[in-house]
Amino acid sequence: MTDVASRASLESLLMNRSLSDVELMRASGGAPDYAILPEVSVLKIGGQSLIDRGRAAVYPVVEELAAVKRSHQILIGTGAGTRARHVYALAAELGLPTGVLTDVGAAVADQNAQMLGYLMARHGVPVVGGSAFGALPLYLAGCGAAIFSGMPPYDMWQRVPTEGVIPPYRTDAGCYLVAEVYGCRNMIFVKDEDGLYTANPKTDPRATLIPEITVEELIARDLPDLIIERPVLELMRRARYVRSVQVINGLRPGLIRRALAGEHVGTIISAA
Ligand code: ADP
Ligand code: MG
Repeated sequence: MTDVASRASLESLLMNRSLSDVELMRASGGAPDYAILPEVSVLKIGGQSLIDRGRAAVYPVVEELAAVKRSHQILIGTGAGTRARHVYALAAELGLPTGVLTDVGAAVADQNAQMLGYLMARHGVPVVGGSAFGALPLYLAGCGAAIFSGMPPYDMWQRVPTEGVIPPYRTDAGCYLVAEVYGCRNMIFVKDEDGLYTANPKTDPRATLIPEITVEELIARDLPDLIIERPVLELMRRARYVRSVQVINGLRPGLIRRALAGEHVGTIISAA
């Protein structure tokens, strides 16, 4: 079909069918993809895994980010961490629902973005709220980087989990979705382990590193615990742009730069 014909048929489907119509849904994805910021990489700086470790972990990461932004355009998303877990514990014990936990947990990721922003101010890096994302190209062109709060703004509209009340889409998912929407080059999760292991290495001494795995394999293995939020795997399955992510150890100097350069220095998880 020509472009004009396919646009006409999509338009006619949209005018005449329900938006749940299968043929309509398929036709809506027919146009070639357009990556909005294909040169940009998203880095998620862990909350519990890095920021909560304080100066010893955070200062070297800040220095590395300040250095790499000279040669790479980067969006830096923040995790929440221990303070969010505290507020989840309180709110859950009070019997409050997932939507409320999401709201109060988001505030912690915001605080981490704010603090990282003050640390990176001298390097010219701004903190950008969701409503200011329209200006991202300007910030990236001006200084090579911008910081955002990693929590997706679902607030009380957060999807409820299959069990319990902990918000399933937290900062890993929030950062990943930014990378996918903008069609970014890399999604790198910067945490405190060398990558994904067969189990949580902090509690299972027999855990071994998995350097590379597909999303399908990872879902099939049904590991007891993961280094990234499980919903990220579902998001990756349907991704158009970011079909591979890397989890690296931010406590090891130099890995951020190497991962940005495309080196395999942690665990690479890819959609088939
Ligand atoms: P963030 O700080 O980005 O929120 P998390 O603390 O949620 O990161 O996740 C990182 C932690 O996940 C690691 O510190 C590790 O203890 C734990 N973890 C759980 N399961 C695994 C696994 N299979 N492989 C590696 N780490 C794991
Ligand atoms: Mg986490």
